[in-house]
Order: sequence, then structure tokens, then C-alpha cells
Amino acid sequence: MRRLIVAGNWKMNTLKSEASVLASKIAGRSGADEDIEVVLFPPFVFLDCVRETVRGTPIAVGGQNVFYESHGAYTGEISVEMLRDLGCSHVLVGHSERRRFSGEKDNNINRKIKQSFSGGLIPVFCIGETQRERKAGETEEVLNRQIVYGLEGIGGTEIESIVIAYEPVWAIGTGISASARQVEDVHRYIRGVVGRFGGGRAASSVRILYGGSVNPSNAAGLLSKENIDGVLVGGASLSADAFCEIIQAALDVRALKEAVS
Ligand code: PEP
Repeated sequence: MRRLIVAGNWKMNTLKSEASVLASKIAGRSGADEDIEVVLFPPFVFLDCVRETVRGTPIAVGGQNVFYESHGAYTGEISVEMLRDLGCSHVLVGHSERRRFSGEKDNNINRKIKQSFSGGLIPVFCIGETQRERKAGETEEVLNRQIVYGLEGIGGTEIESIVIAYEPVWAIGTGISASARQVEDVHRYIRGVVGRFGGGRAASSVRILYGGSVNPSNAAGLLSKENIDGVLVGGASLSADAFCEIIQAALDVRALKEAVS
């Protein structure tokens, strides 16, 4: 059984004291155990503080972005090695807000994924269609293109350990989540594309998260679907209570799935 992941993307939110309080509430109250994975993505400048706060718990920490070179004259950039040095295990790559506001392109995303693998970070590779693309019936075409470019030149074994986050742009921060059924259909499609690319083992091992207005009310319905292996939570991850409820939903779904398997 694939382990469920509950990830919190704090984006450009919190000040240091807030980040520390949020992390310690999540660490203290989630009861997160080894049955699922919980990953926090705070702003870069609070990674150290959050990592120290969750030390000794199973909670993992990751960066919201990374650069595709390891060091040098790249003002303002952060390397895989720097993230590893701070105790990060994961990194978000290709988030739609970076594609939109920072000109992130498929070829750079591919380089970042390769760089993450070579430095020992697990990339959480974000893909998703816009409202216009969905309405035009282009969802599969867009996702296929993003995956084909993003994973170009990456071997099957690495693809097995990548995490893909399907985040329809129209659902991010809008309060309008895609339905569990819509997401399940898309995730099945994504698994098929991964299979064509990385082989059957990669297709069955890769974990595919959903992100887009996930909250305590819709989390269990999403997580109970066969091909939804976790959630990437934005807004609701800034509330310790809401995020802990989502973690609990994942633990409950995991227990149910185990009971029937
Ligand atoms: C995100 O930005 O990754 C996200 C899913 O945001 P939200 O949960 O706020 O829609």
C-alpha cells in the first residue's frame, strides 16, 4: 500500500514567531505516526526554526523551491545542498504560482527535479491545468506535456520515488475543490502517463497528491479514493487545527484501507 502524504505549503505566510507556534502545534497535536507522512513547506527563512521545532517527530520539512545549480553566482537562489544542510528531505518543484509569477518553465523544472534527485531530495513535482484549459477539454494534453517535459531524462527508479502533486490552477486558493471523482479520474490518467514513461513499477509506486482548496470537510472523501495518495494543502495548512484534522482524516482513511486490504 502506498503511504499517504499530508503536506502543508505555507507559501509566503507567517513571521518567525508564527511559524514556530504553527509548527509546534502541529508537532504536538497531530499524533502523526509512521503510517502516513507529514511534510511542512515553510518559507525558506523559517526552515531552520521549523526543522528545530519538529525535531524528534516524524514530521518532515521541505523547501518551496530550489535552484538547478549547486553553487555559484546565482544571487537570491537556494541550492539542494543548502536545503539538505538544513535538514530538508523534500522540495516543491513547479508550483503553479512559480510558473505564473516567476516565469518557471518546463525545462527549468526538469533541471530542478534532476538536481533534487542528485542531491538526495524528494521532489514534489506540481502540475495542473488552468480553468481555460479544462473548459477547452485540454486537461489531459496539458498534464501529459508537463509530465513529459518535467520527467525527461529521468530513470524509472527515480520516477518511482518522485511525488507528483496534481493541482488544478482553478482550484488553488479559490475555495472550489475539484470533486474526488474528478481527481481520481485525473490521477488514473497521470499514473498511466508515468507508466508509459517509467514502466509499470514506477506507475504503481509513484505517489500522486491532490492540491486545491483541501480542507477538513473534503479531505477524507479525496483521500479515500484509490489513486489519491495524499493532499498538498495551502490555505488550510496555516491553521494548526484545520491541518491536524486533515492529518487525522488521512490516518482514519489509512486504517480503513488497511482493514479492507
Ligand atoms: C497550494 O498552493 O499548493 C494549494 C493547494 O493551495 P490551497 O490549498 O490554498 O488551494
